[in-house]
Amino acid sequence: MSEQQIVIVGAGQAAIRAAESLRKRGFDGRIVMLGDEAFAPYQRPPLSKAYLKGQLDENRLAFKADAWYEDQSVDLRVSTRVERIDASAREVVLRDERVGYDALILATGSRPLRLPIPGADLDGVLELRGIDDAKAIKTRLESTEHLIVIGGGYIGLEVAAAARQMDRTVTLVERLPRLLSRVTSPEISKFFLTLHRSHGADIRLNDSVAGIEGNGSVSSIELSSGERLDADAVLVGIGVCPNQELAEEAGISCDDGILVDDHGATSIEGIYAAGDCTRREINGASVRLESVHNALDQADRIAAHIADGEDLPFDPPWFWSDQYDIKLQTAGLFNDYSGCRLIGDVDAARFSAMYFRDETLLAVDSINDTATFMSAKAMMKMGITVTKSDLQQSGDSLKDILKQAREAARSIA
Ligand code: FAD
Repeated sequence: MSEQQIVIVGAGQAAIRAAESLRKRGFDGRIVMLGDEAFAPYQRPPLSKAYLKGQLDENRLAFKADAWYEDQSVDLRVSTRVERIDASAREVVLRDERVGYDALILATGSRPLRLPIPGADLDGVLELRGIDDAKAIKTRLESTEHLIVIGGGYIGLEVAAAARQMDRTVTLVERLPRLLSRVTSPEISKFFLTLHRSHGADIRLNDSVAGIEGNGSVSSIELSSGERLDADAVLVGIGVCPNQELAEEAGISCDDGILVDDHGATSIEGIYAAGDCTRREINGASVRLESVHNALDQADRIAAHIADGEDLPFDPPWFWSDQYDIKLQTAGLFNDYSGCRLIGDVDAARFSAMYFRDETLLAVDSINDTATFMSAKAMMKMGITVTKSDLQQSGDSLKDILKQAREAARSIA
């Protein structure tokens, strides 16, 4: 066993993947994983989906059985918060201990933004990031008649869908003129607006919450439009901010996210970062991604760099969300697209939005259309450029374009 010690701060999606990837690549030094939650690494996506609806038990959320940590010699320490990084000594500082590192991986994730309005600290005003939050929402929903969701992003919409499926009355308030405005096009926003309204959710766009009222526990909210709505519970889902304070205090460059390069290195030698806490450049755009794929991809890049000095090829970003009977899958980044074309059957809720910059395909949002999503993802990974006319000539079938590209590659080989 080498004497090298890698310390991972955080015990979430990126952390577990980094440890796993390092071991798969044959790193045989010590790995110490320090997480401030009371749990071993677990999946967050089900917290707003199957777990919330009671379709998945808590004991199915963990990524690994306890024995894995022993088998893989990963020294996991839960309920352990890293207070500071002493970069000159190559140590992280805990409450009553220092832990030395040869390489440090920051996988500290992100945290929900808080509403800066009166009443936001009342009992029954909830947020969703971890298991404890999801448990609190589940418990509250049992005695809730009317849930108000603040924020029309993925978390807000998934919780709204789960609550409607439990027959709760749901009102969702979104400040902007459309749902999911940060992450998708007006076409897809419109689809989700129709979907949620058709399931009985009251969606208020262009309105915000001015105050939350209650005597100890929330009982109503006041909208900026002046209207007052009764509420037994309020879910705040207005976005997240990166947990970058440790890095900032250590002098690592940050800009709404810890800045990392293609293999996850920060501005201080020997310190890497992965997952929600980071910001990086993809295809010329500076992005802070909050997704499972981003956490996995960056963790793999770091492991490849540390264990083998290898640079991994580009892996296009992807994401998914489940709401009612709809699966949204996204491949690529739609930033700065100049045109959108819908292919498939919108009325039957089986279609994809294809985003182009000028003639070239940038990204795809698929609604119950996994074949198109998978083809897009594979082509982006292979570096195949698809144009509007390619798509037209193929009869709108990315699957056929991919097939042809694979055949052409085989005949050259
Ligand atoms: P995390 O998994 O958040 O792990 C970071 C950990 O570090 C946390 O446990 C944190 O407490 C800990 N930590 C922070 N600071 C310290 C410190 N100083 N010392 C010790 N520990 C510290 N993504 C998708 O792609 N699809 C989905 O459908 C989807 N659904 C989601 C649903 C929910 C409810 C949530 C919350 C997220 C969802 N995501 C989804 C996003 C995805 O889960 C995250 O992008 C992913 O978990 C990021 O992994 P991470 O390791 O960067 O952060």
